[in-house]
Amino acid sequence: MQNIQMVDLHSQYASLEPDIDRAIKEVLQSCQFINGEAVKTFAEHLANYLGVKHVIPCANGTDALQIALMALGLKPGDEVITTPFTFVATAEVIALLQLKPVFIDVNPCTFTLNEYLLEQVITEKTKAIIPVHLFGQAANMEAIMRIAKAHEISVIEDNAQAIGADFLFKDGSSKKLGTIGRVGCTSFFPSKNLGGYGDGGALFTDEDELAVKIRMIANHGSEKKYYHDEVGVNSRLDTLQAAILNVKLAHLDNFNRARQAAASYYTNQMQSWRTITTPKIARYSTHVFHQYTILIEENRDAVQKTLMEAGISTAVYYPVPLHLQKAYQNNRYQLGDFPVSEELSKKVLSLPMHTALTEDIQQFIIQHLEKALLL
Ligand SMILES: *Cc1c(COP(=O)(O)O)cnc(C)c1O
Repeated sequence: MQNIQMVDLHSQYASLEPDIDRAIKEVLQSCQFINGEAVKTFAEHLANYLGVKHVIPCANGTDALQIALMALGLKPGDEVITTPFTFVATAEVIALLQLKPVFIDVNPCTFTLNEYLLEQVITEKTKAIIPVHLFGQAANMEAIMRIAKAHEISVIEDNAQAIGADFLFKDGSSKKLGTIGRVGCTSFFPSKNLGGYGDGGALFTDEDELAVKIRMIANHGSEKKYYHDEVGVNSRLDTLQAAILNVKLAHLDNFNRARQAAASYYTNQMQSWRTITTPKIARYSTHVFHQYTILIEENRDAVQKTLMEAGISTAVYYPVPLHLQKAYQNNRYQLGDFPVSEELSKKVLSLPMHTALTEDIQQFIIQHLEKALLL
């Protein structure tokens, strides 16, 4: 078997090639590379798909988070609660805006923000909570929203990894992730569940006024050309990316089903193994498996190396929790403060996960993993 990558963007392109090529060609012929027709169409289609009133496209997922914080009018010194077990972007934008990141640990089963730890860190300076729907499933939004509402705190969902997943409320209703908080943010980075062929991102909201403000901030703080009411940024989704994403959006549910099928196959095959833990699915969320992440009790790095030697790529998301990263170290946090995140960073291993995995490939991975665990 040839080398096995974490993601296989090529097979997905091959399966959509004529449609994607046609969409790209249309943009090339229109020469409307900035704010072309496809950007509007894509935003409309995505809003329909998500069941949200406004989708505002932007340049990437990191910008989406930054714009959300700016649009909520947060001021230097305001506190924003998130987890240290996430991609750096979540905390980066908080720090860039001179807000104060306040970390709380994650749930050991879902790896998402532990809602039971939320109330004890809320102060009068707390202005926002950013739950991260990590690896493809939700943080407990029902509980988080209840607490946030009681304290009048805004919730910004970091939905870069879980687009298409549903939150299942206790009353039996459901909502797409990213549409439950005041603002949802996502990324169209190529390897995300809905990925373009370059950078891209978007914000979602049901609030009209907030949508106007978000649109304005993403456009140099301007509603009317050359009149600037706010300090903004320049953050646009390219027309080319929008055209590609429009083609792919129609297949998102199928893509996510392919990921779910591959995840079930992995889990069924490995369920009885005692030295690893397979991913748990929360009762309140569907899981769209942006990553299929197992926990390896011992020698994770050696297992990863052995797999690498067999031509199998795996990844460690994330090797260092944010409170221990050089850029975010300060006298507020130290080793031992977030034991779950710290333990996860030593044990997690993400296996290849994409929309073109076959049982042959998975069997090959599973056999080598079993061997590596016995070494
Ligand atoms: C990918 C990702 C981002 C950032 O998205 P970019 O488009 O790369 O800027 C933010 N948060 C999480 C959790 C992500 O996985």
